[in-house]
Amino acid sequence: MKTIAIYPGKPHSMHLEEIPMPKVTDIPHGRGVLVKVLRVGVDGTDKEINAAEYGNAPEGETFLITGHENFGQVVEVGPNVPDTIKPGNYVVATVRRPGYSIYDQIGLQDMTTDDVYYERGINLRHGYLSEYYVEDAAYIVPLPGILREVGVLLEPLTIAEKGLNQAYEIQRRLKVWQPRRAAVIGAGTVGLLATLAMRLHGLEVTCYSRRLPPYRNSDLITELGAHYISSKQATLTEASTMHGPFDIIFEASGFSPLAFQAAEALGKNGVLVLSSVTGGEKTAEVNADKINQGFVLGNKVMVGTVNASLADFVSGVNDQVKAEAVYPGWLNKLLTTRIDGLESFAELQRHLIEDKEAIKVYVEVAQGM
Ligand code: BGC
Ligand code: ZN
Repeated sequence: MKTIAIYPGKPHSMHLEEIPMPKVTDIPHGRGVLVKVLRVGVDGTDKEINAAEYGNAPEGETFLITGHENFGQVVEVGPNVPDTIKPGNYVVATVRRPGYSIYDQIGLQDMTTDDVYYERGINLRHGYLSEYYVEDAAYIVPLPGILREVGVLLEPLTIAEKGLNQAYEIQRRLKVWQPRRAAVIGAGTVGLLATLAMRLHGLEVTCYSRRLPPYRNSDLITELGAHYISSKQATLTEASTMHGPFDIIFEASGFSPLAFQAAEALGKNGVLVLSSVTGGEKTAEVNADKINQGFVLGNKVMVGTVNASLADFVSGVNDQVKAEAVYPGWLNKLLTTRIDGLESFAELQRHLIEDKEAIKVYVEVAQGM
């Protein structure tokens, strides 16, 4: 069967690779789920993998099948797969697989302390840009039929879900925490989805991003009943004077100096969630005393977040269902750019290299069964 792969270490090496069709019996203990891939989205991580800045092939192999934002339909299941996963069901598979730390052993590989991590389509494990894949039922999340069109956005949504779930878990320290106002920094896919998730949690949200409004992403923010402020219009501290104090700030801009401006702007007892994987070597001058004193006198928390656990995928499914009811059609508008078929890998690569306007580029791998 056909797959899209890259050669790690070789920039812009996207190509088609033929591999044998997977079988349910490839997975031990009768727990295999064979999935026909329908759609796969790409993001900044794929851009970096394509540029050979990130990502490794599975041990002993020369290529890495890419794609981690997956959506597909179950074709066949092994005898020990729970009946919550049946042929015909729409499913999304999680990305990270267990390593060796104690967290990995309890299903929290997203919290691994190992130096090496295994992520399908990213590092040391093949991804989902293929006609089919097979996986252990433990890593498969079923989706209701109404999410047929937008299910490919579940994986990026789980990045926001994990950050939020972590924030709420941490804030149980406050016994009576009732967050009211939140800020999201960055209006890319994760920023948009974090704004959505927080609106669904009943928060008043301000999205702070570079570009001057109005443009498509700022319109999407205001359609959610959230505020949009450009960094060309106000500093984050000014935004907080207008729409704060912020009980939660979710940083997803990819610009690390903003993490420290956010630390300064965060409200008392607030929680700052950092989600940008910034691979560069940027430095910044910060108001160290002010930030430090604010954290001490204001009992504030800053937490980093990467990847997502199965529970975050489940809360993501619930929020997608809610989103379809509360903001019908909104998720669909994020699917801006469709690439038809795995054969169009060159077009996919071109979007990864050049396209700065798209919200979500995705490959339509196949129609449903
Ligand atoms: C993926 C995550 C992954 C992270 C780091 C993101 O693009 O969505 O699942 O953990 O990259 O590799
Ligand atoms: Zn991703």
